[in-house]
Amino acid sequence: MHLARFPRLKFAHLPTPLEPLPALGRLLGGPRLWIKRDDCTGLATGGNKTRKLEFLLGEALARGCDTLITQGAVQTNHGRQTAAIAARLGLRCILLLEHRVSTDDPDYLANGNVLLDRLFGAELRELPAGGDMNAALEPVAAEVRRAGGKPYVIPGGGSNEVGALGYVACALELVHQANEAGLRIDHIVHATGSAGTQAGLVAGLQAMHAGIPVLGIGVRAPKERQEAAVHDLACRVAEKLGVKGGIPRSAVVANCDYVGEGYGIPTPAMVEAVRLFARHEGILLDPVYTGKAAAGLIDLVRKGFFPKDSDVVFLHTGGAAGLFAYRATFERATERGADRARPEPGLSRRPA
Ligand SMILES: *Cc1c(COP(=O)(O)O)cnc(C)c1O
Repeated sequence: MHLARFPRLKFAHLPTPLEPLPALGRLLGGPRLWIKRDDCTGLATGGNKTRKLEFLLGEALARGCDTLITQGAVQTNHGRQTAAIAARLGLRCILLLEHRVSTDDPDYLANGNVLLDRLFGAELRELPAGGDMNAALEPVAAEVRRAGGKPYVIPGGGSNEVGALGYVACALELVHQANEAGLRIDHIVHATGSAGTQAGLVAGLQAMHAGIPVLGIGVRAPKERQEAAVHDLACRVAEKLGVKGGIPRSAVVANCDYVGEGYGIPTPAMVEAVRLFARHEGILLDPVYTGKAAAGLIDLVRKGFFPKDSDVVFLHTGGAAGLFAYRATFERATERGADRARPEPGLSRRPA
């Protein structure tokens, strides 16, 4: 495996820190907890999409493209990071935003990531919920071509075999850090959505024969569908890398018990997790991804899923800009107190 074979534009702040979470570990009384700070990748408040965009932009510029087109939910972190790198490189950026979460909360519709998208000068186009968002990208690309532009289409979450190379690189980086520190990692836990992060990690760890299990905590799809999407992409990444033997299906594990009512809809456990990380470690999680992943981590620690004498790394994939879209959720929770948090989201799934 040799990542330098693939075009890459370097703009992420790497390596991201690997830090202990001593207070949270003590509080939960479980295994030793660590955090890999991919919320600190440096681009426009950071996040996991920045690593993917290094490889995607490498390919886009190699092809001479001048317009980036991608899609996500209204509060997409991927869109915000794409808009930022487009601004920095002087590229046009078109974001298709799906109204996946049903709400008329002005914070959700215009604050957080949306505010930042506009600051970066991205063109925002809103679509109703439930369509095939990746299919919606192609007509936009055709429109750009007709106008004389050269579009580069990035799938939702930057999750294809090119973007996922960013998380192959992260696997190498993390194992190197652990080796240097003499830290034996027993488990990696992170939020999984469009699958590129987990697929890249799993393929990278497999290529190294690291023997470190990865647990993706789902934020949208049910377990079977999520694992199938991750495995399919991990196999394609392994093929691109020339990893012999492919990816065993058993290397892909997702737990989708912490989604709650649906994508982007708050749960009491998410609110508790965001508050615990904030109050005990001074770390900001996000309401859509890392808050739910941390809720899963915390619940599994409490249930004794991880041996007490083990070392568990939580991969922080970013997203805190999204907190400002969920002001009402956290204000209500603050009034009530964390332990009595009830699901009164004000945000609900669109009727199908
Ligand atoms: C996109 C995203 C994820 C999920 O990563 P995928 O590669 O889409 O599975 C997790 N956390 C945050 C903050 C994200 O923005």
